[in-house]
Amino acid sequence: MRKKYLLTPGPTPLPPEVCQAMSRPIIHHRTPQFQAILKEATEGLKYVLQTKNDVFILASSGTGAMEASVVNLLSFGDSAICVEAGKFGERWTEICRAYGINCEVIKVEWGKAVDPQEIRSRIKDAQSKIKAVFVTHCETSTGVVTDLEAIGKIVKDSEAVLVVDAISGLGAIPLLTDQWSCDVVVSGSQKGLMLPPGLGFISVSPKALKLVESASLPRYYFDLRKAKKALDKTDTPFTPAITLIIALNEALAMIKEDGLENVFLRHKKMAEATRKAVLALGLELFVPDAASNAVTAVKVPAGIDGEKLVKIMRDTYGVTIAGGQSELKGKVFRIAHMGYIEEFDIILCISCLEKVLNQLGFKFSLGAGIRVAEEEFLKK
Ligand SMILES: *Cc1c(COP(=O)(O)O)cnc(C)c1O
Repeated sequence: MRKKYLLTPGPTPLPPEVCQAMSRPIIHHRTPQFQAILKEATEGLKYVLQTKNDVFILASSGTGAMEASVVNLLSFGDSAICVEAGKFGERWTEICRAYGINCEVIKVEWGKAVDPQEIRSRIKDAQSKIKAVFVTHCETSTGVVTDLEAIGKIVKDSEAVLVVDAISGLGAIPLLTDQWSCDVVVSGSQKGLMLPPGLGFISVSPKALKLVESASLPRYYFDLRKAKKALDKTDTPFTPAITLIIALNEALAMIKEDGLENVFLRHKKMAEATRKAVLALGLELFVPDAASNAVTAVKVPAGIDGEKLVKIMRDTYGVTIAGGQSELKGKVFRIAHMGYIEEFDIILCISCLEKVLNQLGFKFSLGAGIRVAEEEFLKK
């Protein structure tokens, strides 16, 4: 036998409560019973998103919610700013271009965060032609966190709406949707929220709802005008992912029981222990500052095959972490500490990392990583 452990930035491990909820018999969705479930889910998401805005639950992966935001906010020929600081920032540009949007791309070196002032000057240069600014909360490909608070202040004073991909950030790192003026926030189920993939979420501010009414891009399944009409009657336009929404309420109950602040603190602790442990092994962090507490990217040391490292951890020892994507393929590996991850998951992962690094001939003091992680966890 081989016991398996998952420390990837989506999907993330499932709590037993969530698994159990998904084994319940299916119910019909046009019923008062499901309405109560949907209401609880919507309210719970508002709590996690820290918003009073409407929140829609879509039957799609996170990218579906990203596409929903594009088609519901924009019209053919509109201009938008897309911040590309990694693979997921690039996705904003790709979706926008697929719909004929004129993209003002802000390219940021991978591993760095966008300078909010760059967004300010691009909006100014475009002379109020920018309809939307697309950013990534936690850029999962690099492990960088974006300064949404600063960007929100800038975009708020313009005609544009701020659209945030918080697919990996939600429920892992602070996101004050209303306070930071994030008009549209999109997320997904399989990361910080401890669920299987299959749900997309999208919150929409009153400023953005106006665009939803006026946008002329083609849309059908993701038409938020239909979704809004349904939501106002605690309903959905199509068959919702009933089972996943029932499971969502279990996950939300766990988050509420801990309290959002404590959930963020836990993620911070996991991230700090991970960062200190890899440094103690003589490895280098890919992100020296602006590192996200959701996922840690580590540089693959010279002479080590990064893809082989990830493969041996997974296939020989059952510990799945993630490699690098696109231009970072083979150059970094990523340890996710989002969602249902605790102290001993981190220690186990570092232990496995040490074992495989040792096997691959990397020179370090065996046990140095887990020792530092344990010391970190001993701190109050
Ligand atoms: C995982 C992820 C996505 C993609 O989400 P899917 O659910 O695979 O569609 C998009 N953006 C970010 C930041 C992510 O972490």
